[in-house]
Amino acid sequence: MTQASICTIGDEILIGQILDTNSSAISRALEETGVKVTRMLSIGDDSKSIIDNLNNELSLNEIVISTGGLGPTKDDITKDALARLSGSKGYVVNEPQLQIVHEILRARGLDVLDINKAQALVPDTCEVIPNRKGTAPVMVFRFPESRFGHPATLYALPGVPFEAIGALPDVIKDIKEHNPLSDIFHKCLMVAGMAESALSKKIESWEDNLPADMHLAYLPNQLTGVRLRLSIYGGNKDEEERRIDEEFAKLKPILGDMIYSYKDDTLQSAIGDLLRGTGMTLSAAESCTGGMIASMITSVPGASDYFLGSVTSYAVDVKQNVLGVSPETVETCGVISSEVVTAMAEGVRKLTGSTYSVSTTGLAGPGGDGLNAVGTVWIGLAGPNGTDSVMRVYKNDRKTNIERFTSAALDALRLFIIKDLKH
Ligand code: ATP
Ligand code: MG
Repeated sequence: MTQASICTIGDEILIGQILDTNSSAISRALEETGVKVTRMLSIGDDSKSIIDNLNNELSLNEIVISTGGLGPTKDDITKDALARLSGSKGYVVNEPQLQIVHEILRARGLDVLDINKAQALVPDTCEVIPNRKGTAPVMVFRFPESRFGHPATLYALPGVPFEAIGALPDVIKDIKEHNPLSDIFHKCLMVAGMAESALSKKIESWEDNLPADMHLAYLPNQLTGVRLRLSIYGGNKDEEERRIDEEFAKLKPILGDMIYSYKDDTLQSAIGDLLRGTGMTLSAAESCTGGMIASMITSVPGASDYFLGSVTSYAVDVKQNVLGVSPETVETCGVISSEVVTAMAEGVRKLTGSTYSVSTTGLAGPGGDGLNAVGTVWIGLAGPNGTDSVMRVYKNDRKTNIERFTSAALDALRLFIIKDLKH
């Protein structure tokens, strides 16, 4: 299997000033292409270190992708190191990139300085993939088998994330053209309401019995739940899809409605799929989620077909005056309770005239109320066949707790609607 190494260049990453998001974007693209990423390395802005490390990576991998060190102010260090590594005798102007540099700067109303022109200068040992998104091009250095004992290619990408990611499709295209890659076929299934560890226990025997050529990946996300991905390298696409579908079908009796989609999907779009075209509508009343449920639901194109609106009822007064939660309920049950959250859902359902409604009240932290555990959320649901409520406790920071509350509320809503549809 073709192997690759990803190297970031720049002191900023080594001193923890910026997060290396490029490497994960690059490794994802390589993995989808069927290239095995063997290593990720971060190199400082130091010529000798760049040359030594890239030399070593090229001796171990057919493909090395570097990112960074090519900005207008520091590009001399990296570019010079690349020139020396590749035995370049001088620099040449890359005309297509120079053209782009002119266009970009003109569009921004800026003069083209020598420092900008220098970005279109590349060692005479490389090919260039022009970079339409920015001023530094992608340099491609191809080394013959005699140099490292195998053909090796170094792709030097800019560091600015949207430029690096913008250049990826062209880089991947070049990799596909120059390497004997077997096709890779992936298919996803989405599971909500269960942590990755519990899920892996539950489907352990299914996983153990997967055909040897299928590879399973768990890809958890606090907003969408766990994405299970099956991959097969090589073979015929239709046949592979049929075989993966067959394996996924065996999960239905084990996981039931915890499976919410058989493609790469989100909870809010699964809810949209349940409601769209049915004439049924939805509203929300949010305390601790502060509008995030509404934001997620409206991120789905066409949400106006079913989503009526939401009330961010953060204060107790708003819960009472706008949603009609009775002061007695608040007094006797506490504001974070099944009774209050249910009354909130009923209140917003009445206010908007929606078919369904979802509500939240809880404590995202870090401060507590002395009564409830920090991270507690009550989720309320109301619909034509009555109401329901669910409590969950999460132990994360405020931001993550709010995301988990939102995701749990969307999942509870989804199951609540499905229950009605089954009757
Ligand atoms: P300059 O400082 O002039 O922009 P430079 O050579 O440091 O020159 P790059 O290394 O290409 O420029 O990086 C430009 C910016 O892109 C960095 O300041 C950083 O914010 C971001 N960046 C660089 N590498 C990465 C990375 N691996 N992941 C995420 N962001 C990155
Ligand atoms: Mg840098």
